[in-house]
Amino acid sequence: MRDKEPMSDIAIIGAGPAGLIAAERLAGAGHRVVVYERMTSPARKFLLAGRGGLNLTHSEPFHALLGRYREASDWLEPALCAFPPQALRDWADGLGAETFVGSSGRVFPRMMKASPLLRAWLTRLDGLGVKLSAGRLWTGWDADGALTFRLATGETETTHHDATLLALGGASWPRLGSDGGWVPLLAARDVAISPLRPANGGFTVAWSLVMKQRFAGQPLKRIVMRCAGEEAAGEAMIDVEGIEGGAIYALSAPIREAIGRDGAALISIDLRPDLAAPELAARLAKRRKGETLSNHLRKAAGLAPVAIALLREAAGAALPDEPEALAGLIKAAPLRLDAPMPIGRAISTAGGIRHDEVDAGFMLKRLPGIFAAGEMLDWEAPTGGYLLQASFATGVAAAAGMEAWLAVR
Ligand SMILES: Cc1cc2nc3c(=O)[nH]c(=O)nc-3n(C[C@H](O)[C@H](O)[C@H](O)COP(=O)(O)OP(=O)(O)OC[C@H]3O[C@@H](n4cnc5c(N)ncnc54)[C@H](O)[C@@H]3O)c2cc1C
Repeated sequence: MRDKEPMSDIAIIGAGPAGLIAAERLAGAGHRVVVYERMTSPARKFLLAGRGGLNLTHSEPFHALLGRYREASDWLEPALCAFPPQALRDWADGLGAETFVGSSGRVFPRMMKASPLLRAWLTRLDGLGVKLSAGRLWTGWDADGALTFRLATGETETTHHDATLLALGGASWPRLGSDGGWVPLLAARDVAISPLRPANGGFTVAWSLVMKQRFAGQPLKRIVMRCAGEEAAGEAMIDVEGIEGGAIYALSAPIREAIGRDGAALISIDLRPDLAAPELAARLAKRRKGETLSNHLRKAAGLAPVAIALLREAAGAALPDEPEALAGLIKAAPLRLDAPMPIGRAISTAGGIRHDEVDAGFMLKRLPGIFAAGEMLDWEAPTGGYLLQASFATGVAAAAGMEAWLAVR
């Protein structure tokens, strides 16, 4: 509990990880904080992330982690340095959610879910005096500069604060609350925003009917995908409309760029990354008389039926009989991706408030006293804990920026 008078009156809009960590920092520093949230309960996307085990961050060396943010890494570096993966792990630990490093270097809470962590966090925020004002959709500002909200009843509410943090998220999974509805509100104030695009999402493929009917929902395991000089190892899932899954998500930025530039992206899939082509060809050279090619591929190359079906799609016509040609195809099966699947299905969002629109403290240069953090900023990263890491780190940095601004205003 605080024992001193609150210093400033702060509004945080958006009760996701970015908004809530900023609320914790600011309330901890003695400010009076209200968190406004459109949904009836906070952190819906954080809770959903918990269903996949809650990959909080990643344990790889810092420079490698930084590189995951691609063009935005320079911009995010100070925030990530100030609140690095270990700080996030310590924070979770402090809330009773001790973390561990999984085999891939990803960091998870031992309990592999978000709800106990969120419960402990909300209790801490309550103890700090943070008020959660749920069921309020932020709709912009009125003529006096007050924040305007719409309630479920249709009523409107206006509030005045000394400073505001926008932490409204991206536009993926809109039913969880973040739908990018803030874009026109900020664009009307001349804030430059890179168009919101799906990141860590699937791409459409013109599959044959056989592929759609027999193999949709089946995983391609232990593969390596390549696109434009980048590669990603992992899994992919065949979908009726295309392909999704970890390996494809990791390449979503170069794939999107290729589609934007050329109208489609050609990727290649290595279905046996553990075997060199000559070894694979040697295995394929020993085919028993009368054995079907599918059986041969299954036994000699260890390919699952879905991988064999992918090879047939890639070949376009009949599969080659020749062991070297077959091995070459298994090591680099070409696949044409036509378009990103809709942003509503993606894990995260690329695009957002542009770097040059915010100062070093994450305040909008055109709107003094208004700060922004989290996924609504123009950065993207693959899955692997990098999304939550940057959402938390920018929330912490925006809180520090706001404190500094309030101190000298
Ligand atoms: C299925 C899934 C699994 C994921 N798993 C992981 C994972 O394991 N690891 C990882 O690092 N990342 C994961 N992510 C991504 C991660 O959850 C997000 O990057 C993160 O939640 C972004 O935090 P944020 O605070 O910026 O935004 P959000 O979490 O989206 O929070 C924004 C909040 O603002 C509210 N809001 C929006 N507009 C308004 C408005 N106009 N008025 C009032 N409130 C508003 C929303 O309702 C929401 O509560 C996952 C995402 C999905 C969809």
